[in-house]
Amino acid sequence: SALLRANRVGDGLVDGERKPFYVTVKRKPGIQQARMQLPVCAEEQTIMEAINNNAVVIICGETGSGKTTQVPQFLYEAGYSHPDSDNPGLIGITQPRRVAAVSMSKRVAMELGLTEHEVSYQIRYDATVSPKTRVKFMTDGVLLRELAQDFLLTKYSAIVIDEAHERSLNTDILIGVVSRVLRLRAELSKEDQEKVKPLRVIIMSATLRVSDFTLNKTLFDKPPPVLKVDARQYPVSVHFNKRTPDIDHVTEAFKKIRKIHTRLPAGGILVFLTGQNEISVLCKKLRKKFPPLSPKASARQRAVEKEKEALEEKKEVVTAKNAEVEAEDLELGEGEIDKNVDLEDFDFDEDTEDEEGFTDEEEEQEPDAPLHVLPLYSLLPTAAQLRVFDDPPPGTRLCVVATNVAETSLTIPGVKYVVDCGKVKERRYDSTTGVQSFEIGWTSKASADQRAGRAGRTGPGHCYRLFSSAVFDNEFEQFSTPEINRMPIEGVVLSMKSMNIDTVTNFPFPTPPEREHMAKAERLLAYLGAIDSDTKRVTELGRTMAMFPLSPRFSKMLLIGQQHDCLPYVIAIVSALSVGDPFIKDYHLDDARPGDSDDGGSDNEDVARREVKEIRREEVAEKERRKLARRMYYKVQTKHAGLDPTSDILKLLNVVGAYEFAGATEKFCEDNFLRPKAMDEIHKLRGQLTNLITTNLPGVDVLVDPRMCPPTPIQLRALRQILAAGFIDSVALRADLASAGAAGKGRKFKSTRGVPYRVMWSDEDAYIHPGSVLYHDSPPEMVVYQEVFKASRVWLKGE
Ligand code: ADP
Ligand code: MG
Repeated sequence: SALLRANRVGDGLVDGERKPFYVTVKRKPGIQQARMQLPVCAEEQTIMEAINNNAVVIICGETGSGKTTQVPQFLYEAGYSHPDSDNPGLIGITQPRRVAAVSMSKRVAMELGLTEHEVSYQIRYDATVSPKTRVKFMTDGVLLRELAQDFLLTKYSAIVIDEAHERSLNTDILIGVVSRVLRLRAELSKEDQEKVKPLRVIIMSATLRVSDFTLNKTLFDKPPPVLKVDARQYPVSVHFNKRTPDIDHVTEAFKKIRKIHTRLPAGGILVFLTGQNEISVLCKKLRKKFPPLSPKASARQRAVEKEKEALEEKKEVVTAKNAEVEAEDLELGEGEIDKNVDLEDFDFDEDTEDEEGFTDEEEEQEPDAPLHVLPLYSLLPTAAQLRVFDDPPPGTRLCVVATNVAETSLTIPGVKYVVDCGKVKERRYDSTTGVQSFEIGWTSKASADQRAGRAGRTGPGHCYRLFSSAVFDNEFEQFSTPEINRMPIEGVVLSMKSMNIDTVTNFPFPTPPEREHMAKAERLLAYLGAIDSDTKRVTELGRTMAMFPLSPRFSKMLLIGQQHDCLPYVIAIVSALSVGDPFIKDYHLDDARPGDSDDGGSDNEDVARREVKEIRREEVAEKERRKLARRMYYKVQTKHAGLDPTSDILKLLNVVGAYEFAGATEKFCEDNFLRPKAMDEIHKLRGQLTNLITTNLPGVDVLVDPRMCPPTPIQLRALRQILAAGFIDSVALRADLASAGAAGKGRKFKSTRGVPYRVMWSDEDAYIHPGSVLYHDSPPEMVVYQEVFKASRVWLKGE
């Protein structure tokens, strides 16, 4: 275990002068050695000096240079968070992604030799924080909510805002809010300043594009210093495709990986795709083509490798002791050297390679070499995510197939080849109509370059771009759009208002949202009663709503859920809605597929045909699920009638209840096509919300037993009303009734298929999504929907 020693140095200082404070950490030799290779470690002194002398410091450094893992350790060693130091408050680090918050806290705990209770994480569904916590990794959303309770951030001595270049909605807001916190802390009286020590803010970015922070005069009084960490980035040769292929990029990626694996020297492959479905498809294909080692073979390999290692260790010892014996082990040593020479020779020669970087067009020879294929995306269970950091089994080549999680948040060791599809799946949001869509489109030049850079961390590397240089030059934007212009923002607007930032338009946004976007958020908050519609100030209700880690609609539902003893059900429903769809599906209609957003060449008819085919498949799966939804409560609790199956949201409640009754097991999830991780998160969020309510709303008792009885008919009616109140602006009227002349008459329909609806803000026809339980029923006159999504059509989801 780690040896910790705190000592004050500089005892000769005049009284009152700040005495430097150091915490000595004894790290394992291997860890220490690896750290010393990291570029940020060479800059430790400069970085700490800047932090000690400035309230805000910006650190820019290539991904993998050690910012996230090392800067918190610098602070820790400099006495930050030590109870006896001048800066006893916590060290807080924010991340835009949950994956990163969890894995980075584990890594830092390990490097410092501390427990997860000392170096902890907090994300919405999970936390390891304890009274002993000194370093806390969290998502940016978690810190935003803490700000609503404690605007001065009195618990913290340092806040590190990481991945600022990603321009996530919450990170942008955090930077704005923290700039105000600093001002307020500086304006405190001397007395209070004694109690609330100065706060240090460190903003970290993987790119040098920080002018939105430094030049924004409303943000910081004087531009903060920008420290550039020179990363030892090895050259990466970028190879464009000759043409941008017509076939989908998954197939194209597969071909490229096959070529790399069968022809090119050792080195990990990192593949960038756009989403979970694509990743699963490619992983399956790769595993089929290059089967992983059987456990037996892998054990054998490991034994051989171990023997080798032992030999080598012996060799080292022997070399040191006695040079004469060296000859004995030379065989192995030479073998190693030979391999290295090979590697050098194999490096591409710019002159001879073709555009794709492959000089050899002969029939490929498939070797037996197994490929160690690992997926990486945010919905993957944490343990599976962390596998990318382990060494691949000996004798295999690592191949990680990832979303843009691997672009800057996580550095995967040993990557030499990057295969980049050049696309990204992004949430778009039309602020006038409220229509959301997930679209796959070209990523930006900046992010494509980030992806390429992943190949050059451990040595010279190669990046294969599955698109042409013409497309890159002409169709890629320079930078990605900040998230604030791509997301509904009522949540952050409410957070800000509950911090008494009333005139949100004056807020120092790094990139201000469009006026209409802001107005729409305020309008919704006023509908929900969270802000006063005239003064636009937060109401008592709004303040309470802001306490919950939920979108304002869901908070509103919780707060009116006390009627008719509905609260446990509402908690279950909003938990499920917040976590997201727990059903496993092969197809997501709302996921755009390659054809949808491809450049002009894409064939719309083809897209439509494909979509129809997928709808059919959806239908089959959906029938199964509907049976399931009707069955569940009958099965687990025969005394009660089953739930009304005419609502997707009540279906969710049904599933949550049945899951708990069955003992909340993974087996139950498997049997019923549910994602275990989602069900577990729903379970945790329910517990968390129940706690929040019992501790913050005096007099409200919530059933603590997660197994609820199914609701009574009266409760069901109340639940429907509560849902309608939360989705007050999301009511769609059947189009035939919406047009004035036809009012009251209405046509007769057999099913909702192809029956158009009208939503409040848009003139476009919208249709009930085939995934809805309503899809097969006769179309109701009105539906309350959860989301409007645009794919080939505008779909209403979650009725
Ligand atoms: P940055 O934040 O500048 O992108 P990091 O601090 O994340 O850099 O990474 C520094 C180094 O630590 C990288 O080489 C990375 O591979 C390594 N590293 C980070 N997390 C882990 C982990 N869980 N296991 C092994 N190595 C890791
Ligand atoms: Mg980082």
